[in-house]
Amino acid sequence: MGRGTMGQTCPHCHSSAAIRTSKKVSDLVREYYIRCNNIECGHSWKSQMSAIASITPSQMPNPNITLPMTTTPRKRVNKTNQLITAPPTG
Ligand SMILES: [Zn+2]
Repeated sequence: MGRGTMGQTCPHCHSSAAIRTSKKVSDLVREYYIRCNNIECGHSWKSQMSAIASITPSQMPNPNITLPMTTTPRKRVNKTNQLITAPPTG
């Protein structure tokens, strides 16, 4: 299974936490019900993950979804482009 907590930690005791369940709020927003793994703490809470920007545009765009394009540079792409770019032959 690996890490299923998406880096969530308890805001009170900073222990690791587990996602118990989640529900869809909208196409862009999902709510997570999270529980602290520290038995002595016992905290449980709701968290939210929302789509805030597109990095690569969808090839199947939904007309109801409006997301800004992020301007975050992607180092991996740059590297790939350098590898692909070759001097013209002939
Ligand atoms: Zn805790």
